[in-house]
Amino acid sequence: MNGRQFVYFMQGLTKAYPGAPKKLFENKKEKGTYPVPEHPGKQEPKPIHGFTTVVKKPFIRVWGPEYVNVALILDADDTIRRCVGEQQWPEKPADVQVIPGVKEKIEAWLKANNTNLLFGASNQSAVDKGRMTIAEVEACFAETNKQLGLDVPWLYSPWLPPKNITYCRKPHCGMGAQLIYEHKLLPSKCLYVGDSTSDKTFAQRCGFQYQHPKEFFGW
Ligand SMILES: [Mg+2]
Repeated sequence: MNGRQFVYFMQGLTKAYPGAPKKLFENKKEKGTYPVPEHPGKQEPKPIHGFTTVVKKPFIRVWGPEYVNVALILDADDTIRRCVGEQQWPEKPADVQVIPGVKEKIEAWLKANNTNLLFGASNQSAVDKGRMTIAEVEACFAETNKQLGLDVPWLYSPWLPPKNITYCRKPHCGMGAQLIYEHKLLPSKCLYVGDSTSDKTFAQRCGFQYQHPKEFFGW
């Protein structure tokens, strides 16, 4: 959110969101094809949204004076932990294996940046898929923290479209926005480490710095 970005000045509004229009769009990127409701956060405003004029204007987001804190924020799977079970992702604590050496790198970054703010932000859509319960997801995070030897507060999104449309699933910025607001983070000073393209997009949308775990942990 820092730096040069674009905002839309909307003139001649004839229809208000939410509620119009009702058109559904196909999402072909995920498995299969299914309709997802269009919403204004996902794409540029167009006349069908009820606007007669759309003008792009550059802006720089200015954070309030209380937004000063620095944090390290981590993805979980294939960033600080691996699955040693049968599935791709841990579904029970016995599946969790924290990658050796990550604790030392995390602690070194916190010390070098003079902060003790450490958080996790992870997609856990196995809940929405019916593969895991909330209790099982949290048991896996508890095991992760135990092996890591650090008390990481984990934010996680259990939701998956189209069952649940949410801003809290990466690459959307919901989990980052929550951390920024609750802990008065200055995003440009914070670092997000995650292994996937959606992690990189999430960091970019939140205004966080980004590193792949190979870079951060020196693998
Ligand atoms: Mg990952």
